[in-house]
Amino acid sequence: MKQAILNGPLDMIIKEQEIPPLEPGDCLLRVQSALVCGTDIRIYEGTKKKNVTYPTVMGHEFAGTIAESNGPLPHGLVVGDLVAVYPIMPCGHCSACVRGRENICRNRLAFGYQIPGAFAEYVHVPAAAVRAGNLVKVNGVRPNSAAVIEPLSCAYNGLKLIDAPAAHALLVVGCGPLGLMHIRLASALGVKKIVAVDPSAQRLSAAAKSGAQLTLAPGDTAAREILEFTDGDGVDAMVVAVGRTDAFEPYLEALSPGAKVNLFAGFPTGKDVLAVSANDVHYNEYSLIGSSSCHLSDFEFVASMVTDGTLQVDDLVTTTMEIEEAVAALEAAKAGDDLRVGITARS
Ligand SMILES: [Zn+2]
Ligand SMILES: [Zn+2]
Repeated sequence: MKQAILNGPLDMIIKEQEIPPLEPGDCLLRVQSALVCGTDIRIYEGTKKKNVTYPTVMGHEFAGTIAESNGPLPHGLVVGDLVAVYPIMPCGHCSACVRGRENICRNRLAFGYQIPGAFAEYVHVPAAAVRAGNLVKVNGVRPNSAAVIEPLSCAYNGLKLIDAPAAHALLVVGCGPLGLMHIRLASALGVKKIVAVDPSAQRLSAAAKSGAQLTLAPGDTAAREILEFTDGDGVDAMVVAVGRTDAFEPYLEALSPGAKVNLFAGFPTGKDVLAVSANDVHYNEYSLIGSSSCHLSDFEFVASMVTDGTLQVDDLVTTTMEIEEAVAALEAAKAGDDLRVGITARS
């Protein structure tokens, strides 16, 4: 099979590899779609170092068909099914796992840098992941849309942590692909007032189509306009979906008392210091949290929304390239003109 092997930063080759033998309980997926995410770009460039060991095969947002299994599949799955893959394997016994925070387990293994990922024709799924339910059936969904379930689930986890599904008003700062996914989810979950901020008119128009009622370019008047839109209350939930601290600070004055803010994006190392008034946090009981990855239950829930059509995501993958063009796909994703770039193998 063809695999895009990353031997070190900026050193990726496409190589013909043997398909690994399947141990009892393992299964093999034929990749139908693998998406390039910001994390892949950071791994490729060598700026994400944590838990990355070379050589590695990237690709953690993916869907494939079950090509083969060594032993019975979990109930409800058969060879040939299209599955979206929950890409992490938590340890199950650390303090995070025991508290139900398995998505931030420090011992977790992740497809796409610790377990070979989906920038390949096939992905080998270990028995433990098959047994744990990491393969989620999504027959009938377009493969690219099935692969979007992973980042959508991360957005859903973040929205839950700030109680956004029950919010009166939600502010999403940054309308790249993840910002748009937050807006679509919030809209599908019934959030009435959604505000989107981004400097790009094109992205704001996408945000409006995704369910934002008020779209604003960043600027001196943005916070005031948000207050007017919310009848002076401000927003009670805010997501920072772009890794810039200056995309955070101007909106603190648009928060309502008791508001919850999620720092969803990763911030560049060295440029991640926030200026927040401690007294503002104190007197307003603001909650400032982060979110990372998602739970399997989030993944299953979002997969059901995509499968039953509650959530429309068919337009989020704007370019698809062949596995041989994996480097070009990473560069295209970095250029930022696409929402998501997909990689697939010629069938
Ligand atoms: Zn990702
Ligand atoms: Zn754990």
